[in-house]
Amino acid sequence: MIPTVVYIRENSFDYTGVKSLQGRRVGIESDIYYKQYLELYPDIQIVEIDGTSDLMKKLSFGEIDAVVSNINIGNFMIKQHVLENIELAGKIDIPEIEDEDLRIGVRKEKNQVHALLQDAMNRVSFSEYRRLQDRWIGATPEDMQETLMSGDREFITAHVQKYGGVRLGFHENWYPVDFMDKDNRHAGISAQLFEMISDMHGIPMIEQRSGSFESVVESLVQGETDVIPAIVPGTGFDSELIYTPPYLSLPLVIATRSDEFFVGDIEHLSGKRICLVNRGSIFTNFKKKYPSLVFIEVDSAKQGLKQVQNKECFAFLGTVPSIAYAIKNNNLYNIKISGKLEETLPVSAAVRSGNETLAAVINIATQSIPEEERRRAVDQWISISLEEKVDYTLVWQILVASGMILIAAVVWLKKTHQYNREISKAYGLLEEKNKALEKLSINDPLTDLYNRHKLDMAVAKEMERSNRYHRPLSLVIIDIDHFKPVNDRFGHQAGDDVLKKLAVLIKHRIRSSDIPGRWGGEEFLIICPETDRKGAWHLADALRKDVQSFEFLPETTITISGGVAEYEFGEDGDQLLKRADDNLYQAKQTTRNAICG
Ligand code: GH3
Ligand code: MG
Ligand code: MG
Repeated sequence: MIPTVVYIRENSFDYTGVKSLQGRRVGIESDIYYKQYLELYPDIQIVEIDGTSDLMKKLSFGEIDAVVSNINIGNFMIKQHVLENIELAGKIDIPEIEDEDLRIGVRKEKNQVHALLQDAMNRVSFSEYRRLQDRWIGATPEDMQETLMSGDREFITAHVQKYGGVRLGFHENWYPVDFMDKDNRHAGISAQLFEMISDMHGIPMIEQRSGSFESVVESLVQGETDVIPAIVPGTGFDSELIYTPPYLSLPLVIATRSDEFFVGDIEHLSGKRICLVNRGSIFTNFKKKYPSLVFIEVDSAKQGLKQVQNKECFAFLGTVPSIAYAIKNNNLYNIKISGKLEETLPVSAAVRSGNETLAAVINIATQSIPEEERRRAVDQWISISLEEKVDYTLVWQILVASGMILIAAVVWLKKTHQYNREISKAYGLLEEKNKALEKLSINDPLTDLYNRHKLDMAVAKEMERSNRYHRPLSLVIIDIDHFKPVNDRFGHQAGDDVLKKLAVLIKHRIRSSDIPGRWGGEEFLIICPETDRKGAWHLADALRKDVQSFEFLPETTITISGGVAEYEFGEDGDQLLKRADDNLYQAKQTTRNAICG
């Protein structure tokens, strides 16, 4: 869509709409269709000139005061003639003058050419589109920068009126990308991203259907749903679906039993049985690319990893999030990630063939989520998977794997030069991933403090030390007062910011030997070694005052309540924590903004 805009000389006057053009000389191209609408304002002096180039020059030299033109020709002329004293003042606000919509024309009987071009255009991502626009049009007025163009908006509004929203049909068990949770709700990475899309663009989404891959495709084709939010392109139903360009690409790795040797490159697995979940053409391509490998199809990462555990298969090939999720949720043990592939698994959305406009809208909407947000959504599911796990299986296995990689590297280095190069490359990548995984498994991503799992371990360790050396040890547990209303009033994002800032206040207040962490939601735990009850109370109370006087949000006072408990010889961690928690409850029951214990 190309808007019609007004150009003026820099600092000549304030353009505030068509009224501010009254009494001025306004240049337009001869015979342009909107001349009649400008003539509705008798005080505007219309000057007709042939060619936008001359229009712009006359404006630059002061022979006219403003030019109305379509933006790309206007900007192009300014660039070409280096007319530096001209500025883009804004859009022309006459309702009859609409943006020009550019389309490609195709001869009527050329249906396939039409479909092909439409499909190709749908694949232009939003950022590519932006780049094109920046290159050829240059500066764009504010209202052109909204992500959905007005035509797309109208389409989606009509669709929502008819169906109540965009009806999603999602996989019930593609963990953790797209699945149905315990409460029969759409959950997973794509659910999270589609919720963001819904918020950002005001498009209601309806969880219409869920089921197996086939049934989800079936209900889309039947018209019962509008969008499959997550699907790997190339499914065997390609003529019935339109895929958006991928909005996620998930790293593919090889998981084996932990006692296996480092794999590095899957080509080294020739003759071995490798199981995978068949999602889209990428796996068909694998079969072609690695004819010496034996691929076995399984229904889920869980099933695949079980086969690996039972030695029915040598390796499972899948994505990092799905492997991490399956390990955590099914208590799989004895599994490690032992290699990484160059390929990644692309995740797109799909709509029914013939629904090109919807495909374009969904494409723009998915692309409008910043890359960083998308990565965060993926990381979150990896971190959840590892955080909640009570043992360190994956992490320490990865460490073991790293050690073995090193040995492998040394041995193989002697063998051939080429092997060496490949391995060290793979090693570097794996090392990087493993470090990230390890950090994720002990840190809370929002506040960067320790997570609950790490805190549990630290409490146990400190209790042991306190026991052995007969030293005092105390815990402080704090909870923000009336935090729900803060979220309700300022939004969840602002709530998250409060949590981050509170984490910083805690770090500033405590001693370097104290161990702070996020206990859950808006609760924090501080482990204070070498500290008795009184000392811990003073720390907590000082923190309480810090919080009370800190301005987290405009004109809002945020307070915390706290509970303190000192370790008593012979009790276990749960008992100690419960005493601190009871004291917190006490503080909540009385005045709040108080420390009990
Ligand atoms: P009080 O503790 O004083 O009894 O009241 P409260 O409103 O804080 O109540 P409660 O502890 O039951 O509720 C905790 C609320 O904290 C629920 C949720 O809205 C918010 N919350 C929990 N975790 C997060 C988070 O990670 N981010 C944000 N923004 N809010 C969170
Ligand atoms: Mg709470
Ligand atoms: Mg609270």
